[in-house]
Amino acid sequence: MGIAIVTGGSRGIGAAIARRLAQAGHDIVVNCASSVDKAEQVAEACRAYGVKAVAMQWDVSDHAACEQALNTIKEQYGVPYILVNNAGITRDALMVRMKEQAFDDVIRINLKGAYNMLQLCGAMMMRAKAGKIVNISSISGMVGNAGQINYCAAKAGLLGMTKTAAKELGPRGITVNAVAPGFIDTDMTAVLPEALKEGATKQIALGRFGKPEEIAGAVAFLVSEEASFITGQTLVVDGGMI
Ligand code: NAP
Repeated sequence: MGIAIVTGGSRGIGAAIARRLAQAGHDIVVNCASSVDKAEQVAEACRAYGVKAVAMQWDVSDHAACEQALNTIKEQYGVPYILVNNAGITRDALMVRMKEQAFDDVIRINLKGAYNMLQLCGAMMMRAKAGKIVNISSISGMVGNAGQINYCAAKAGLLGMTKTAAKELGPRGITVNAVAPGFIDTDMTAVLPEALKEGATKQIALGRFGKPEEIAGAVAFLVSEEASFITGQTLVVDGGMI
């Protein structure tokens, strides 16, 4: 079992995924954009499970930085076995008011960032003829969400990339799947207006926001042997919202 890379592992869903994969016995690279201290704390929590874990800062939207990080990881820990493309941001605004920068930033980080890692890591996994990739999309990319045209485009794009990569990498034994979370309690949703959160909660069959650990469980399943014949799929984890 090679190392698992979790992009955006310093906080929220990514931090929960890193801890859950460490619990399953995987060595972990906890990537972050800037909160190195938080990523280091997550790595420490992973090490408590008896695995190797390191925090590494790089911007997933920077192709050269991704290449450099992956080469370092390969030299030090071997070809990655698991890639979880989780890093993401929101820059919400109604379409008619959205600034060009807000659209570009979200596409660059949420979609191109995932592509950078998928392409570079996928090439390494193809040569090794092994690997498991999970892209963290969103139900917003499946049903749309007012105020998030940039985010919905990126998250829908991720689903197309997941299906295409599954076809290209499948012949080498690599699975590529997506998880589409609904509303999950993290820094990303903490900033939403109370009225919006209440309205959203009413639409969730289970009547509450999800916990990061509940997304981590789905990711752990998709990278496990239990899911060995599952590829190109989107697992919706939204408490029954859509
Ligand atoms: P979060 O708490 O805001 O954490 C975002 C993570 O992404 C942080 O670790 C951040 O690193 C990292 N990141 C941001 N830009 C990056 C970049 N350019 N390069 C590398 N890392 C970067 O978000 P979250 O709620 O856990 O969301 C995680 C993923 O789940 C995202 O893709 C999000 O779109 C998706 N999702 C979330 C929800 C939800 O309700 N929360 C629902 C559906 C989908 P720093 O700490 O260094 O900033």
